[in-house]
Amino acid sequence: IKLSGTSRIEEQKLRQPIVVVMGHVDHGKTTLLDKIRGTSVAKREPGEITQHVGASVVPSRVIEQLAEPLKKIIPVKLKIPGLLFIDTPGHELFMNMRRIGGAISDFSILVVDIIEGFKEQTVESLQLLRARKVPFLVAANKIDKIPGWKPYPNEAFINSYAKQSQRTKELLDERIYHLMGELGRYGFNSDRFDRIKDFTRTVSIVPVSAKTGEGIPELLAMLAGLSQQYLKDRLIFTSGNAKGVVLEVKEMPGLGNTIDVIIYDGILRKGDTIVLGSAEGPIVTKVRNLLMPKPLQEIRSPEDKFLSVDEVVAAVGVKIVAPDLDNAVAGTQLYVANTPEEIEDAKNKILEELSKIKIKTDKSGVVAKADTLGTLDALVEALKRNNIPVRIADIGNITKRDVVEASISKQDDETLGVILGFNVKVMPDAKEEAEKLNVKIMLNNIIYKLLEDYFNWKEEVKRLEKIKEMENLVWPAKFRIIPGFVFRRSDPVIVGIEVLGGILKPGSPLMDEAGRKLGILQQIQDKGQSLKEAKPGMQVAISVKGNIMVGRQINEGDIIYTDVPDLHARTFLTKFKGDISDDVKMVLDEIIKIKRKSDPLYAFV
Ligand code: GDP
Repeated sequence: IKLSGTSRIEEQKLRQPIVVVMGHVDHGKTTLLDKIRGTSVAKREPGEITQHVGASVVPSRVIEQLAEPLKKIIPVKLKIPGLLFIDTPGHELFMNMRRIGGAISDFSILVVDIIEGFKEQTVESLQLLRARKVPFLVAANKIDKIPGWKPYPNEAFINSYAKQSQRTKELLDERIYHLMGELGRYGFNSDRFDRIKDFTRTVSIVPVSAKTGEGIPELLAMLAGLSQQYLKDRLIFTSGNAKGVVLEVKEMPGLGNTIDVIIYDGILRKGDTIVLGSAEGPIVTKVRNLLMPKPLQEIRSPEDKFLSVDEVVAAVGVKIVAPDLDNAVAGTQLYVANTPEEIEDAKNKILEELSKIKIKTDKSGVVAKADTLGTLDALVEALKRNNIPVRIADIGNITKRDVVEASISKQDDETLGVILGFNVKVMPDAKEEAEKLNVKIMLNNIIYKLLEDYFNWKEEVKRLEKIKEMENLVWPAKFRIIPGFVFRRSDPVIVGIEVLGGILKPGSPLMDEAGRKLGILQQIQDKGQSLKEAKPGMQVAISVKGNIMVGRQINEGDIIYTDVPDLHARTFLTKFKGDISDDVKMVLDEIIKIKRKSDPLYAFV
């Protein structure tokens, strides 16, 4: 059996670049990968394995064949054995599978729907690519949807483009310019691939249709050409201990827990000792079996999907069968380590990796939980980018302990009393505790949606806090005692009044026009009903407690104000400036004038 990538022996053997497809949902990542896979399956040689576990390989032979008509534009003579595409799109996990010194992906395809342009996940992907310094090209997908486009299935873009009408060509170019503008906004120079002179400074945009296959030859040729030319050092194959990253942990009938791994360097053999990460710390175990998918034509029954191999060579996607994988987590590094020193070294590397991603502080912040190291890493990074402090970040389902941690943050800041979960479950006792402690739990499998939910919730919490705070303030108000409506002259005074301005609320201290104190407004009543507030124009009865008497300190027809404390007045003028009506503001100005006669610094902001 010939594993593609292992056959060419040259002075310096290069491995296949690992390519990850990213982009916004529905922009065509899955369709594009299917098309690429289909291309290599159709041109497969007997016995050649192009399907890996969690990945597919397009051999260089196929790429050279496809690029033959493009020789004048893209002269490719390939030294790399092919391209290895990670099969599952969904960038959060795969983009974040790091290796020491950067990302696991050598190159990335950013898929953008040419009609829709940039969307949230396009931007998120770009930010990740930049943070991880991963080179990429843009696949401007769905060109078959450009008005007037005549499809020429599986043709090179250049050839198909040449056969389109002038108007259609212009429409396509307009869309490309638009993409260039959007990329420019994020600091990337870009151009259509066939107009680029310096590929080190310019991101290539390759127009494609994942549906018709147009542009796929250029896409593959560009990927192969660029990665071979600019990533050569990174791709030099070493025959040492394998290094990899875990894509998925899966239970298999009859085999127990297995891990799907992408090996990006070295050789992995049956019997090797491997070290990898779990939520609890490093796992050390021995490879019992290595499984590769059988070519479709050779599968005789559903159970007969895999082929046992003795060794695999990077870059490769393989299923590892080994004991003690129960707690393994996706996204962790995997190292082959066959001596006690190597094992110790690998364990330290795993511990360091875990400590970088997992957070445990006693500072106030949100609690973040995710299913894998990669997703947790991406979630924490997104939280940091948005200046959201993190108290706990860990792998696994949401537990009672998480709720307690969140409730501690909540005591300090209501808007931090929250748990954000990415692809995890809430344990039943955690749910109970969350209800008891009033801790908010948010679950979503798309990071930007999780953040969006958080920000919406935070705004709502703040709004409620504001209302509560505003309710506790003494509001500016002004009223007149209506002549002939004195029901009780003292202790408490009960009179009929008309509100002239502001908002009158029970509990407000009162003063006259000269600023002399007049006791506390106790109750507001209208037709025997207690009111929480009275607004301008309303005629109501009020009771006032304090050392005052009608006929002495106050008289029928008098104008009376609320005695707004200095701090409250300042709060209205600053924090709630945008929340009070002009009428309230006017009454406050009158109150300020009165108060400043005795206190020149009153409400000074
Ligand atoms: P993903 O969410 O990014 O993986 O997107 P999918 O591959 O699932 O594609 C989303 C939708 O767009 C599907 O209905 C596809 O059939 C469609 N689609 C994908 N690529 C193309 C294309 O090149 N042209 C057209 N017309 N439709 C496409």
